[in-house]
Amino acid sequence: MTDRTDGRPHLAVIGAGPAGLTAALAAAARGVRVTLVDSAAQAGGQFYRQTAPGLGARRPQALHHQWRTWERLRDGLAGHVAAGRVTSLTDHHVWFVERQSGTTGGAPASFTVHALLGPEQEEPVTVHADAVLLATGGYEKVLPFPGWTLPGVVTAGGAQAMLKGGLVLPGRTAVVAGTGPLLLPVAVGLASAGAKVAALVESADPRAFVRHARVLAAHPAKLAEGAWYAAELARYRVRTRVRHTVVAAHGTGRLEAVTVAALDGDGRVRPGTERRIPCDTLAVGHGMLPHTDLAEALGCRLDGVDVAVDDEQRTDVPGVWAAGETTGIGGAALAGAEGGIAGVSIAARLNSRIPDRSSYASAAKARAGMREFFAAVDTVCVPPARWAEHVTDDTVVCRCEEVTASAVREAVDELGAGDVRTVKLLTRAGMGWCQGRMCGPAVAGLARCPETPSRRPFARPVPLGVLAREPGEPHDTSPSTTGWDPS
Ligand SMILES: Cc1cc2nc3c(=O)[nH]c(=O)nc-3n(C[C@H](O)[C@H](O)[C@H](O)COP(=O)(O)OP(=O)(O)OC[C@H]3O[C@@H](n4cnc5c(N)ncnc54)[C@H](O)[C@@H]3O)c2cc1C
Repeated sequence: MTDRTDGRPHLAVIGAGPAGLTAALAAAARGVRVTLVDSAAQAGGQFYRQTAPGLGARRPQALHHQWRTWERLRDGLAGHVAAGRVTSLTDHHVWFVERQSGTTGGAPASFTVHALLGPEQEEPVTVHADAVLLATGGYEKVLPFPGWTLPGVVTAGGAQAMLKGGLVLPGRTAVVAGTGPLLLPVAVGLASAGAKVAALVESADPRAFVRHARVLAAHPAKLAEGAWYAAELARYRVRTRVRHTVVAAHGTGRLEAVTVAALDGDGRVRPGTERRIPCDTLAVGHGMLPHTDLAEALGCRLDGVDVAVDDEQRTDVPGVWAAGETTGIGGAALAGAEGGIAGVSIAARLNSRIPDRSSYASAAKARAGMREFFAAVDTVCVPPARWAEHVTDDTVVCRCEEVTASAVREAVDELGAGDVRTVKLLTRAGMGWCQGRMCGPAVAGLARCPETPSRRPFARPVPLGVLAREPGEPHDTSPSTTGWDPS
């Protein structure tokens, strides 16, 4: 690791997706030394997930949209890395960000980013910085249904990751199901790569978009994108079933078919509409949730399930900014706009200046528009209201701890649990490796409790040996010594 004591302020950016990359480039271009930390093997995040280098993909752009934007980000990063303005740490899994208050009154805080290096995630690395940008993105929400643990059932994003990252198809005949815009690129991606997509099953009712006509009309590019996906689905003869849901996955040992059914206006399955579709892959997703672990551990305020930020993308913890899907699900363009604004703000604030708002006026306008657009999408693309009624008692809900729906129901109906935490204490649902990231929404739905963000002290499982290690061991980086005003 290089010495950071060169007089320039030092920013740690966690997450190298569209938000983190754009912020890193904007801050570095304004004289900030940046360390960009990401757990993936290559920068790009979810939207620009790169094919593993060893596979030698000849035309990786065939799997991507907005490849030019990616080339600009990639080349910009390479330029700053070569010039020593940005250090890019891939394969670094951040488990905690520590904030040290200034030692004298009014002195700025400093931060220590704790990460684990490598595939085993056992080698500790620390990065010291004057400010932190959280750009950790989001993850998929998947609700349980009978058979969802069968091999062959994958998340929609997981199917896409296999394709983009590994150039492999999860199977030959796929059903893509759930709700939300992510289903479209996944279905089209699988079909264009040679899979037969037997059905695209969307639980939302597209007619509900009519209520948001004004907002949609303000985004012709998004409408054109939707029309393009519709044309691609037609070209690949993908049968789209809206107001439908998957009620069960079937198979002996692995997935062989799914049953889909129509939904009524209350989100209940309409009896007699069940239809069995043979397939070896079910790519399913019920929307997205922001990653907020690191922000919560730092004490940042949340707005619902999103990290709350101000106009400059500052959280309410001095020295901590957040951008991209950690502040709310809204796509790559919104993430990029927020990252750009954060980068400008950080560069100014680290040099005790107020950022020039005119320098990010167009990004702020784009941000407002995209937030409005995705708020409309969010109200339409919701899982069926009565999904929990179709979860049979023997369905496993918490996969890490193998807790069934009946155990959760018993905790609520017979043992009196009234919140997710009590259900967890009674059943162990959410106590396993993923710490409730996967099962949290399902447990809340089955227990009829509000979905609350669960406080986890660490963002990743950490070996005890790492926790026991004294600070200042090898891999420590020196703090930068610049003073700044984070207010
Ligand atoms: C699985 C999945 C597939 C998607 N596919 C599409 C698609 O096909 N089309 C589309 O329009 N949108 C898609 N989206 C949404 C789109 O990717 C996002 O809108 C966009 O990438 C958000 O950018 P971001 O920078 O906020 O976060 P991301 O692109 O998600 O980047 C966040 C980065 O943070 C890193 N990170 C997270 N936590 C840590 C940690 N603790 N330590 C170190 N690094 C960490 C991750 O490795 C990741 O690289 C997808 C989202 C997901 C989750």
